[in-house]
Amino acid sequence: METLGTHIHERYQQTLESIAAAARASGRDPDSVRLVVVTKAQPIEVVQAAVQAGARTLGENYPEESVSKILAIEPEIGVEWHMIGHVQSRKARLVIEHFDLLQSLDSLKLAERLNRMALEAGRVLPVMLEFNVGEEESKYGWPAAQEKDWPALYPVIEMILGLQNLQLRGLMTMPPLETDPEDARVYFRTLRLLRDHLADRYTQTDWRELSMGTSADYEVAVQEGATLVRIGTAIVGPRPDR
Ligand SMILES: *Cc1c(COP(=O)(O)O)cnc(C)c1O
Repeated sequence: METLGTHIHERYQQTLESIAAAARASGRDPDSVRLVVVTKAQPIEVVQAAVQAGARTLGENYPEESVSKILAIEPEIGVEWHMIGHVQSRKARLVIEHFDLLQSLDSLKLAERLNRMALEAGRVLPVMLEFNVGEEESKYGWPAAQEKDWPALYPVIEMILGLQNLQLRGLMTMPPLETDPEDARVYFRTLRLLRDHLADRYTQTDWRELSMGTSADYEVAVQEGATLVRIGTAIVGPRPDR
């Protein structure tokens, strides 16, 4: 009988291989892409199985639900926890207290609040800026689908760059869900071009990370330059109803 553990282990390995193959095929070093296993809405058994399989970067969306999972994994194992979902102001403290990195920073107000709390806690929080590159009203992130929108982002980016207890690492996006992964390519390319644009303009900042691609389209994202891919269902299976 195949257990949850062996199933997740196999799919974790297969996914690592597909990521490496996609990287090599596009002339990239496979080590330049990191797999973030998304365990949102999954029980602790699934988190443990993913860690057992070798996962060392885990992504969660709902701060409250993640805390018990984070606390259940021994710190000695060295799991890096990434918050990848929208963070409401009143949940900011949970991010400061429990997460290693916030991928989904999507407002100046949240940035200022996190900066204040990080200062109080005596830590620096690594963050990535979330952009909406698909012109969907319902999505979080600063609108950046059109190159002509980019200059309007400078003032807020400059304010965030001035926050001493946040450390910028790069950009993140969650594009519209397409039935054909090939249709997601344009969004991933837009995020990469925006990153290159910001890196040219703000040369003192580290813009290295590009977090893009999920179970449905991570190979295309890797071809377009992703350094972090966020994969849930393809590794840990469908999410249980919340
Ligand atoms: C759920 C989620 C993922 C993972 O999606 P899968 O389809 O399960 O791979 C990635 N990124 C974000 C922001 C998510 O909310």
